[in-house]
Amino acid sequence: MRFMETTLPYRGRFAPSPTGPLHFGSLAAALGSYLDARASGGEWLVRIDDLDLPRVMPGAADDILRTLEAFGFEWDGEIVHQSRRNEHYRAALAELEQLGAVYPCACTRKEIADSLVGRDGATIYPGTCRAGLAPGKTPRALRLRVAEALLEFSDAIQGRVSQRLAQEVGDFVIRRADGLFAYQLATVVDDAAQGVTHVVRGSDLLDSTPRQIYLQRLLGLPVPHYAHLPVAVNAQGEKLGKQTLAPAVSAVRPVLVLQQVMRFLGQAVPQELIEADLPAFWRWAAANWRRDAVPPARTLTIE
Ligand code: GLU
Repeated sequence: MRFMETTLPYRGRFAPSPTGPLHFGSLAAALGSYLDARASGGEWLVRIDDLDLPRVMPGAADDILRTLEAFGFEWDGEIVHQSRRNEHYRAALAELEQLGAVYPCACTRKEIADSLVGRDGATIYPGTCRAGLAPGKTPRALRLRVAEALLEFSDAIQGRVSQRLAQEVGDFVIRRADGLFAYQLATVVDDAAQGVTHVVRGSDLLDSTPRQIYLQRLLGLPVPHYAHLPVAVNAQGEKLGKQTLAPAVSAVRPVLVLQQVMRFLGQAVPQELIEADLPAFWRWAAANWRRDAVPPARTLTIE
């Protein structure tokens, strides 16, 4: 399957979900996307992915932004909030409906619980409602009908990625049973609306990327370049996030923390930099960032 990759100048972004404070893993995604943009003379946007209202923690978005500032990140343009962009997601949904690519699904989580599970841990939808709802069933979510195709793309860090969407993911949800638009659709709509040319983010989203490219093709949107950073996991192999009670990063000694993140991302940090202040650190980091030094691993263990 072929698609057109974007050829615009560099515009990157960091799109945290405000489900808690910034932790080591999200700081790594912030730093990786920031330096990759700055090292290319590009812009860097911040978007608050606050669409999943049940998971949003009050105050977390502000807390994340203040923490980014305390670490010396400087973003371009206005902050975009997904929670205020429903009309755009609705318009994209209408386009997909026009293409006949959307159908209502009545399945509850429980009803598909014994289906196979994909690489990202989500259930592979068995297609129960594809040909229409069984009599008496009430529509819940909306799903995208996925065609048989091998989706391939070249990730700037992880290398060649290929996925058979129909077999490995199945028809996926674009509007959830609770009426909220799904992450996959919102991300694709926003990345295009914001003119994002380069998506640098954690590898926990690597398996979502073929879904996003599939949506971009259906909606006639440009496909950004993708680079997926390793995700920090603990000794048990669990992603450091809210579930594992990853501690919030402290900006009391910001340069020290940023250096740890740089090392985590495979960058050689000179000893002298320990003494640097924030502006000096960022000057050095933007001039010395090497994307090709980032380990092509989905996860890396930190103590
Ligand atoms: N909001 C997502 C997260 O915090 C990231 C979305 C993306 O980068 O596409 O995991």
